[in-house]
Formats: sequence, C-alpha cells, structure tokens
Amino acid sequence: MLKVENLSTSYKLIDGDVHVLNDLNFEIHDNEIFGIAGESGCGKTTLLKTLYDIIEFPLEIDKGKVILSGEKNGQSFSYESGNIQKTWWNNISYVPQAAQSVLNPIVRLKKQFLDSIPQEDRKNETKEQTLARVAKYLEELNLSPDILESYPFQLSGGMRQRVIIALATFMSPNVVLADEPTTALDVVVQKGILKMLMRLQKQLKNTMVIVSHDMGVHYQITDRMAIMYSGSIIELGPTDAIFNDPIHPYTKMLVDSLPRVGDKSQKVGIPGRPPALKNPPPGCRFAARCPHATDRCRQEIPEFIEVKPGRFAACHLLKKEGEKNG
Ligand code: SF4
Repeated sequence: MLKVENLSTSYKLIDGDVHVLNDLNFEIHDNEIFGIAGESGCGKTTLLKTLYDIIEFPLEIDKGKVILSGEKNGQSFSYESGNIQKTWWNNISYVPQAAQSVLNPIVRLKKQFLDSIPQEDRKNETKEQTLARVAKYLEELNLSPDILESYPFQLSGGMRQRVIIALATFMSPNVVLADEPTTALDVVVQKGILKMLMRLQKQLKNTMVIVSHDMGVHYQITDRMAIMYSGSIIELGPTDAIFNDPIHPYTKMLVDSLPRVGDKSQKVGIPGRPPALKNPPPGCRFAARCPHATDRCRQEIPEFIEVKPGRFAACHLLKKEGEKNG
C-alpha cells in the first residue's frame, strides 16, 4: 500500500543541508494501524510529510520515493512522490499536528466541509445533498450534525480534533496519516480520540499511520510500528513483539524506561542525547549512548535488515534472518 524505497531527504538551509531521513526502506500494509515512534527531532513528522507528499522548500527529496498503491471501488491506483498530491482526500488524507488549529475559527463548519470535498466527488449533488451526506457521516461517528452550524471557536479542543478526523476520513481514503493526534488533549479526551481512530479503521478497513512520541498510544492502538532514531528507522515489527521482545539496544532501553502497572522500581531515561542532525557522527548514530558499542559501530553504519520474519532492525549485533544471531 505505502512503499518507501531508498528514501533520503534534507532541509536545504543557508548554512548547509540537514539530512533528516537517511535511506529508509519499508512497507506499510493494507488494513493495519502502523505507528511511528521516536524522540522529538528524530524525523517522524518529516517522514509523515514525505509520505503525504508535502515536499516544500527547504525540504527536498535527495533520493528514493514513496509509492502509494491499491484499489478503491474496483479501480486500482498507483502514485509516486511528486504525484501523490493528485489523490489527496480520495486515496490518502492527513491529520496534521495541532489539527484543532487548522480549522478557520470564523467560518462555519458546514462551509469548511463543503470547501474540502473536491467538486468531482460531489457527484452532481446540490450543497444540501452533500451536507446531508456529511450529517449522516457525523452521526455514524457519534457526532451531532448540529455542529455543522457551529464555528470552530465554539467547540472544545477534543471536539475540533474529532471534526478534523471526520473531515479527513469522509471520503473513505485508503490511507489516513495522523501526526500526534492526541497531543495537547487531556487523558479522557485522548482515550476518546484513540477509540474513534480504531473504530474508523475497523469500519473503513484502510491503513492508518499514527505518529506519536507517546509509546502508550502505540501500545494501545497500533498493529505494527517503527522506532526512529536520528533520521533512521532502527527497528520495525509487530507492536506486541517490540514491547515484549525488543531487539535493538535503543528500543530495549526505551521499553525498559517505560512505567508498568505494578512495577514500583525507579525508571530512568536513556542517558545522553541524540546527535545533532546537522553534523552527525559516522557509523551508528546511537553509539555514544549504547552500552554495546564497538569500534566497528563508531565507523560503519549498520544495515537495516530482516532479523526474524517480520522483524527488522539496524544494529551490528544482529544478523540477517537465516544467519545465526549472536
Ligand atoms: Fe549499539 Fe553498535 Fe548496535 Fe549501534 S550498531 S546499536 S552502537 S551495538
């Protein structure tokens, strides 16, 4: 469905390029909730923007591409980076970070819905007919159609977030990308948003890609997930396996640092900080924080390989599936 091939991107700044995504290769499947996790500044949002094809200066793709393909209403489709924008809303949609502030506060929601639905998808309907479809869809999502008459400033942050998700999914896109969908919301509202996303994915049987720095969000709703570190994916696999049997040293330390029910031990974060993306060290970028680092780690970038069926990681300690892991 979404295939990322040899993807490298950078921000072209006056004082030099900042390489943010480094040779990424992975696939996101049909009918799954896929999570992208990692510390802030690791490249999660840049990756999501590149998946959605928002490549605006100073961001550029240096190498590789994203391929979005699949089938909708019996028609197959395939778009690559540079063309994915042609199918926004229809085959792929995006819930940006701080989505609540994306709505124009002084325009009624019904107008914002009408403006977002492309003319060709209005199927020769009158405005009233399109709004009736929107109202029906809102009811399916347990939202009152009365909100269409409201201005965004009249709604709570959580309600605005639900409206944005409703907008992004109204046309049943094959892929929905959501950047930190629960940030800045209180815990109860967060739970409601996560439930809404899970229900929608079951209903649409589509692909959802959730970026979040909050590992709890991934644990609760994702089927598979990728862990990013300093512009690369360092581990990818089923979410349960990543939490219960992490294979990359960074993931192990990250999972060990998480609080668990009934565990009263003092949790400590991972010492140190990720390297600056502007001038990163050669070799493995986790080497300065890794208890297993060797000279090889400091010189040679580890390859992202399939270590076990469906489990991928980039670490010199690990061997490819079929070779003996030490
Ligand atoms: Fe640690 Fe070396 Fe593996 Fe990097 S490659 S995570 S430094 S053991």
